[in-house]
Amino acid sequence: MLVTKIMRIAFITLGCKLNYAETSTYERELLKEGFEAVQWNKGADVFLVNTCTVTEHSDKKSRNIIRKLHRQNPDAKIFVTGCSAQLRRADYEAIEGVERVFGATEKSQVVPSIKEKTMGTAGCGQDLGTFFPAYSSGERTRSFLKVQDGCDYKCHYCTVPYARGESRNIPIAEIIPQAEAIAAEGIKEIVLTGVNTGDFGKSTGESFYDLIKQLNDVDGIERYRISSIEPNLLTEEMIDWITSGTKFLPHYHIPLQSGCDTILKEMGRRYDTAAFAHKIQYIREKTEKAGGPKVFFGIDVIVGFPGETDELFMETYNFLKDVVRPAFIHIFPYSRRAGTPAAERKDQVQDSVKTKRVQMLEELCEKLHNEFVESNKGVAEKVLFESTDRKGMMEGYTGNYIRISQPFDPELIGKIVDITI
Ligand code: SF4
Repeated sequence: MLVTKIMRIAFITLGCKLNYAETSTYERELLKEGFEAVQWNKGADVFLVNTCTVTEHSDKKSRNIIRKLHRQNPDAKIFVTGCSAQLRRADYEAIEGVERVFGATEKSQVVPSIKEKTMGTAGCGQDLGTFFPAYSSGERTRSFLKVQDGCDYKCHYCTVPYARGESRNIPIAEIIPQAEAIAAEGIKEIVLTGVNTGDFGKSTGESFYDLIKQLNDVDGIERYRISSIEPNLLTEEMIDWITSGTKFLPHYHIPLQSGCDTILKEMGRRYDTAAFAHKIQYIREKTEKAGGPKVFFGIDVIVGFPGETDELFMETYNFLKDVVRPAFIHIFPYSRRAGTPAAERKDQVQDSVKTKRVQMLEELCEKLHNEFVESNKGVAEKVLFESTDRKGMMEGYTGNYIRISQPFDPELIGKIVDITI
């Protein structure tokens, strides 16, 4: 009798939600093929590392992890994919233990190739073109659904368009069944993810607005969040619809990057601070005036872009403090990425200055976040509780993304519960 060894595989993901959604999809497929998933430190036969290139640090971390995996598991086969692997294929291929590197257009080959190179059998390897559909399903209450990939914007600091290619998506008609599959798993909340999510539809003649309207009708999914959307692509028409009583929550993650018009222009961004402020105010008015909850804004900011003087940085600081007043600031120190226009500039900002600015924004963020939570005290809200037992406690989020913690009760997992903040 031929006994086939069960292959133990571990997955390591760095970077963004899109990477997590993609890894989760590889995992589901490979488990169906007979692999056993183990934690990375439990001695696997195979590793799949999904790398990230968003900063120089991410590249380095991705490579170091692979070296460490090889040191600890010299016989294991290591497969590498993701944005850093796309941009620096040769660096990864040169690392000992690496069996194969998959670029951005080879994502549909990950599962069949791993199967072939470890079990000696080729999978059927459905060719899905250059869009690799994905959704995460590790957490039982919330799933990240990839709806779009790539970006055509070419902001002057960013390598993501080179790593992930042109903006593209699969048609709405193929995304809806994925949302239905997520609902069939009992998951109630979907977070729509993409590289430039709002650009959805470019390759299929549809629009992001068409997509969200159709997703809203999927039975079983009760809440939607949009993981990140460019301010110029979040239209007033969409905001009017979202606030008219849909499943889309009062939680907006919007990249600002700088609150200074000079820097925004030099970054190659497609809006100015006046347009950004108008959009924020419009969302707030539409949501809160109708007696609705306070809106959670998560805002991305890059500090230390070349040419950002103390004065220009203070424009950003004050714009956030006085005008936007977000509930959270995602702060990124500018990272010089080879091949981008910003990397060529001579007026780079010193690391020590960036660190100081990051600290200032962290303090501002903490203050604004506390004020946001405080301003919601006593308000009735709905919380979707998650499954993780955190030392006897469980956590969940309100519609406007306030984290609520209470004693662990397995009955509440995946349930939407009325609470008072
Ligand atoms: S919109 Fe700009 S920052 Fe975002 S992925 Fe595209 S180029 Fe990069």
